[in-house]
Amino acid sequence: MDITELTVHELQEKLKNKEITVTEITESYANRINEKEKDVNAFITTLTDEAILKAKEIQAKIEAGELSGDFTGIPIGIKDNICIKGTRTTCASKMLENFIAPYNATVIEKFKDENMIDLGKLNMDEFAMGGSTEYSYFKKTRNPWNLDKVPGGSSGGPAAAVASNMVPWALGSDTGGSIRQPASFCGVVGLKPTYGLVSRYGLVAFASSLDQIGPITKDVEDSALLLNLIAGYDKKDTTSEDMPKKDYTKCLKNDVNGLKIGVPKEFFAEGINEEVKQSLENTIKEYKNMGAEIEEFSLDIAKYALATYYIIACAEASSNLGRFDGIRYGYRNPEYKNLKELYKKSRSEGFGEEVKRRIILGTYVLSSGYYDAYYKKAQQVRTLVMKEFDKAFENYDVILIPTSPTVAFDIGSKSHNPLEMYLADICTVSVNIAGLPGISIPVGVDKQGMPIGMQLIGNRFQEETILNAAYTMEQKLKFRENYKPTFKGGGI
Ligand code: GLN
Repeated sequence: MDITELTVHELQEKLKNKEITVTEITESYANRINEKEKDVNAFITTLTDEAILKAKEIQAKIEAGELSGDFTGIPIGIKDNICIKGTRTTCASKMLENFIAPYNATVIEKFKDENMIDLGKLNMDEFAMGGSTEYSYFKKTRNPWNLDKVPGGSSGGPAAAVASNMVPWALGSDTGGSIRQPASFCGVVGLKPTYGLVSRYGLVAFASSLDQIGPITKDVEDSALLLNLIAGYDKKDTTSEDMPKKDYTKCLKNDVNGLKIGVPKEFFAEGINEEVKQSLENTIKEYKNMGAEIEEFSLDIAKYALATYYIIACAEASSNLGRFDGIRYGYRNPEYKNLKELYKKSRSEGFGEEVKRRIILGTYVLSSGYYDAYYKKAQQVRTLVMKEFDKAFENYDVILIPTSPTVAFDIGSKSHNPLEMYLADICTVSVNIAGLPGISIPVGVDKQGMPIGMQLIGNRFQEETILNAAYTMEQKLKFRENYKPTFKGGGI
């Protein structure tokens, strides 16, 4: 048995039956990282030595009867924009290359309470801006299904690490698709929770009104388990919602009889790859066979979502990234004549091209002369997008669309064309604009063997509905049993 092939719920089962130990689990992952990281490049920082020590400590306590718990000794990988106290948190930026987080994010505190084990910090686009992980200051992560392809982004490190069995599961963050799109490109499951369900405390802010932390896992059951761990009110995040705790595994019923699924025709029109379309149409047929009611409808406002997203996200980013000034923390150019030059040199050298592009765009749309024309207008359209979704959810329980218009593209094919990179986000951004939950699961592969993702969108705080619909399709298609990453390529 290869331990690293198992899901977390399978690991839990084997731990309970004393078939494996916590030490064995962590050692298996450390070996796997040793073997695969040189091809995949998913980590910015590995914590395997510390992890093995901790696993031994935990194992001894378990044997002494001092420690128990469902998640005790379960390892995890963390995107490098989530703070772990005493560990480097770089956001894949030169600006934070040497930044050691002085505190834990709330989600990390929760893992600590469960005695879980961090395997490392995972690669991403700089400050989570991008869709391919090519904008990392440190390295380009490769897609385990074909090493010449991008893993998607910005959570490309977490998705590639899960797909290549270097971690059993991981946390990513999603501002405009950064959990769902890389999950789709790497053939794993990615869930972006409702805005406010998971605390953002300790997540380095990109666009605060859109950012959410969420699970990247091998299957839907693990997604529900990880959501159980991270969801919940936090007084340190004023946008987090105070509501009763749920057990998201309870909703996994493998039954969609009577479920109303809306299919917006705009997401199956021009610009969506034929094989992606074909694959999604098959899932729609499967849902119908399983008793779901499918209806096509129009979500016309969606055509404005991308422009709205890029105005709002850049505006908030320009404000959030103002804190990196070379004074308090982060990169500082040591040679400066005055304060202005210190700011200028530190920010010019500390940030990469894409981040600077967004700061400039964001500053422009917030400037007094253009505020009404761009930022205010975008906020008005945002409200319209929300209303349009509200209307749709009067008729449907779930909305089904592709996660991405294409499968994973070649490394280097879009990184010099920002507009093309932005256009690839067309299927994911509306969910963030409207604050809704969305999940991506793999539903097939194209002729080249690259995974295709299906996205299910639910109404606010209706994670259970999309998790069950995703679980039911997963049980039907058995993607993990039928397809595996090949690690082919690697010439680029
Ligand atoms: N690709 C999108 C962007 O570049 C989404 C990023 C994200 O969700 N963090 O902004």
